Amino acid sequence: MSILPKSAAGFGVTFSHMFKKVVTEEYPEKPPAVAPRYHGRHILNRHPDGLEKCIGCELCAWACPADAIFVEGADNSDENRFSPGERYAGDYQINYARCIFCGLCIEACPTRSLTMSNEYELARDDRRDLIFTKEQLLAPLLPGMEQPPHAMRLGNSEKDYYISGPENPGMSKGAEGRPVDDAPGAGSERRTGEHR
Ligand code: SF4
Ligand code: SF4
Repeated sequence: MSILPKSAAGFGVTFSHMFKKVVTEEYPEKPPAVAPRYHGRHILNRHPDGLEKCIGCELCAWACPADAIFVEGADNSDENRFSPGERYAGDYQINYARCIFCGLCIEACPTRSLTMSNEYELARDDRRDLIFTKEQLLAPLLPGMEQPPHAMRLGNSEKDYYISGPENPGMSKGAEGRPVDDAPGAGSERRTGEHR
């Protein structure tokens, strides 16, 4: 048998694929939509008055199998209040070089402070930029919210906040679309990179 028929057969395979439907994603021009419950980057949510839902309890950090979360709690005071109740997260960081997006941290969070968005564009040129600071993770202030620290506006005790908190996880709207590198405090000291 001559070489020509074999070549023609080979090209035949090529030509047959030229007329099939293209399955290539046009990324990044047209980013593909993900499932609504896709596990993307995290968001630290706020109460409707702007106070932070995070109470610095560290349960998320203990639940994380990849040791990707660093939390350092601090005490609230009447003059310096960031969340309802006694404690808030003085520092909070997630290392996306470690995170496997399993979602165990958000299951552990007792206040629904920590949720996950659909954002998946997390590639960075520098490993240090994969450690997201609290300022980068915090949900932006929506209309009606006030930048903490400030007094409790929704009740006299943290119970007034926590009763509605679990049913009110929607304060992250828009956070996933915010350019994290523009967030106030972005690029501040990242501690997880130092000891992990
Ligand atoms: S999604 Fe999983 S790996 Fe990532 S920070 Fe949460 S618990 Fe850790
Ligand atoms: S995000 Fe939730 S679990 Fe983690 S420290 Fe804050 S309140 Fe606790």
